[in-house]
Amino acid sequence: MKSLLLTNGRVIDPSNGFDEVADVLIVGGRIQAVGHGISRECPDGAERLDVKGMVVCPGLIDCHVHLREPGQSAKETIATGTAAAARGGFTSVACMPNTVPPVDTPGTVALIREKADREGLVNVFVTGAITRNIAGEELAPIGSLKQAGVVAITDDGHCVQNGEIMRRALEYVRMFHLPVLDHCQDYNLVSDGVIHEGYWSSVLGLRGWPAVGEETIVARNILLAELTGAHVHCQHLSSAGSVRLLREARQRGLPISGEACPHHFALTDAAIAGSEVFWNTDGKSFLEDFGRGREAPFWPSYDTNFKMNPPLRSAKDREAVLEGVTDGTLEILCSDHAPHCDFEKEVEFDYAPFGITGLETELALSLMLLYHSKRLKLADLISRFTAAPARLLHLSKGTLSMGVAADVTIFDPDKEWVFDRAESASKSFNSPFYGWTLKGKAMGTIVGGKIVWQDPALPATARADSSAAAEKLAAAE
Ligand SMILES: [Zn+2]
Repeated sequence: MKSLLLTNGRVIDPSNGFDEVADVLIVGGRIQAVGHGISRECPDGAERLDVKGMVVCPGLIDCHVHLREPGQSAKETIATGTAAAARGGFTSVACMPNTVPPVDTPGTVALIREKADREGLVNVFVTGAITRNIAGEELAPIGSLKQAGVVAITDDGHCVQNGEIMRRALEYVRMFHLPVLDHCQDYNLVSDGVIHEGYWSSVLGLRGWPAVGEETIVARNILLAELTGAHVHCQHLSSAGSVRLLREARQRGLPISGEACPHHFALTDAAIAGSEVFWNTDGKSFLEDFGRGREAPFWPSYDTNFKMNPPLRSAKDREAVLEGVTDGTLEILCSDHAPHCDFEKEVEFDYAPFGITGLETELALSLMLLYHSKRLKLADLISRFTAAPARLLHLSKGTLSMGVAADVTIFDPDKEWVFDRAESASKSFNSPFYGWTLKGKAMGTIVGGKIVWQDPALPATARADSSAAAEKLAAAE
């Protein structure tokens, strides 16, 4: 494997408190050095990549992705899903277990891991089910799943309704040092709701999915985390009440955490009334900040690419989620990348499946709503995509420390680009963000020292024939 020297980038590694213009040297697929004047350590034949003006950071981690294999490869495969991850700047993803069959046996874990080794463009970490068949009735063989290599357990897509079973799961996992992730949804309260219960559910005549349907389970999880001492991580939180509950619980030092997805802080339920309503109401400030006189993207009312679970909520909830990410209550950002085929989404709103793709837009939307909006410093935003998910899943990732596998993301926080359906690597096209002009873009993705994707605008690597030549190049700069 070729050695690689990334020069002149702004290197931001929150895990080491590092934020300087510096070089990064990768040798043998591992981080050899980060700093100044390190090109003399460059072995013969090393390649150089000038990334001046760009940010170089630990490879981004998305801890909530649906890769759909096994069983649903019409929607996505490990190959296409990880290609989308690479394009989005992600070097690691954790895939959810609600596949067909679900990941509730060691055999399915092994199948995904082997396939990911062969066909995955980025690192794939597997999560297993909490309950058998994700049915919420009896515990899955959690010890065997751990032995087979899962990094967490979750029934994502579903929620364990029975508090007693959740309690036993939490007590049981303590001995395996496995985090429990939970999709928070009380089935009785939510029933067959498809959109946030509020003004727009009434106006549009769609059944409401009330915020309390999420908050009830968040509250239960807090109480169970306190009772058992096991870590519970609440997935894709969407409501102001959930953020408040989590903030209070964390202030009390309980082992509980949460994550936010960009669609919940970029959009609101007004978007389901169509683009005109959205841009004139909850989307107005977005257009003022980022529109720059361009024609605003159009979509019709009842567009099923705005249907997800939990649903888009009110402007007040959106603000609370943004505040939660800003103050660290929600310490992790992720996509909930949930691909579905066109034929599944092109039906009446009530019948369409929940979920949208997100791997290729989440970095840009997060940069726009959190960094360009001046809520978060760049290092804090990067930490929510690197050190924080690595800590949750106990991965030796999310850092540029010497000797770790060289997973590195190069991105330009200011680059404006249009998200184009034709350029997406995902197998599915259920994104609400096609045609949007976004600000901030992954330019290069390096996994284990290998460039697995690069934007055509990134300069080609220039090979230095010897370290002396590298020195000369460095001197000439
Ligand atoms: Zn979910």
